[in-house]
Amino acid sequence: MWACTPGLAGKWSCHMAGIIVRPRSRIFHGHDWVYATEILKVFGEPQDGDVISIKDGRDRMLGSAIYNSNSQIVARRFSHRRQLLDQDFFERRIAQAIEVRDKCGVTRKIRRLVWSEADGLPGLILDQYENVVVLQTTTLGMDLAIDRIVAAIEKVLAPCAIIERNDASGRATEGLAQRAGLLRGEIPENMVVAMDGVKFEIDLMRGHKTGLYLDQADNYRAVAEIAQGRRVLDCFSNQGAFALFCARAGAEEVTAVESSAEAVEVAKRNSAINELSIQWREANVFDDLVQREKAGETFDLIILDPPSFTRTRERVNEALRGYKEIHLRAIKLLAKGGMLATYCCSHHVDWKAFEEIISAAAVDARRSLRRVGIHTQSPDHPVVLGIPETEYLKGYLFELVPSR
Ligand code: SAH
Repeated sequence: MWACTPGLAGKWSCHMAGIIVRPRSRIFHGHDWVYATEILKVFGEPQDGDVISIKDGRDRMLGSAIYNSNSQIVARRFSHRRQLLDQDFFERRIAQAIEVRDKCGVTRKIRRLVWSEADGLPGLILDQYENVVVLQTTTLGMDLAIDRIVAAIEKVLAPCAIIERNDASGRATEGLAQRAGLLRGEIPENMVVAMDGVKFEIDLMRGHKTGLYLDQADNYRAVAEIAQGRRVLDCFSNQGAFALFCARAGAEEVTAVESSAEAVEVAKRNSAINELSIQWREANVFDDLVQREKAGETFDLIILDPPSFTRTRERVNEALRGYKEIHLRAIKLLAKGGMLATYCCSHHVDWKAFEEIISAAAVDARRSLRRVGIHTQSPDHPVVLGIPETEYLKGYLFELVPSR
């Protein structure tokens, strides 16, 4: 790491290895990432996972970053100063992240506490599930610091358990193996947590994902507000959060469609513990919507919350076809006065492209939509200006315009 290796918590008496970035790199425009193509020179032989200095062509310090030459994003800045990844640093940053959420009114006990770049901790994600913390590291630099991160979490939050869920495939891009398990404390076998009074059974240790879709938390509330008395169709329902919120808000009837058998099982248990009646259907939404159209069914409120249809820019056109298809089908199923809450979590499809695709689908369905709401990711997933990758969840609420 340093030329004379003073140890991680050492003082800044030595020269740090680092990179010199090319003029016009994104780091000069508010970003914190340096791609391989933006590097002019590497100095001091940094090792992958090290903390390095980023400098401009005139030897001016641009900040400290974590380095990984095997990743497309070679350096990720976490401080504009010289900074070590010691326990103190993690304590400060985690405490700041929690303060920001409290100030923004995200005081629920199920929330994202730390969200990577948006909290100045690139590759670290911490989620709170009441008094359990779920940790993920998606960069080598953060992965190597896990012990210090865990110690900092214990100091700042004193949770009853810390769980590592590093079993997402995305870790491979940083050369990291998949790993999951209990790092500290103990958790109950069948944990039940509540969001706005709606209960969820979650298996933080084994579930196929880390837990709930916390980025949608505010949108569950917003959609529930218009659900009363309506016949609701929740597409891509996963563990059924939209469906459960709507049923609890007094929807006349709720149907939910999801292709994963495991998610449908959990969803069924969720409706049982909430004593809510929901028709769960394990099916492919694309086929299901066609069948419903053939059967002449209609709905007063339809929710579309598909997975990201593309992770890469190259496959955007294919993804757009998928988005158009489900919108076309859903718009046709809207009853008079019906509403559509629709979400897109693909970073590569921006607000405008998303709206255009919905508009084209409405034209094909020969129906007209009126936009009555804009939904986005909850504020515990803040968007950093200058780092466009921090913005990804786009949502619109539409109303079917009566034919005139
Ligand atoms: N609305 C959910 C999150 C949806 S995530 C919530 O807020 O909790 C997307 C879900 O779509 C995943 O559960 C995934 O299993 C499911 N899925 C993916 N492709 C599908 C398809 N073609 N048909 C039905 N469900 C699908």
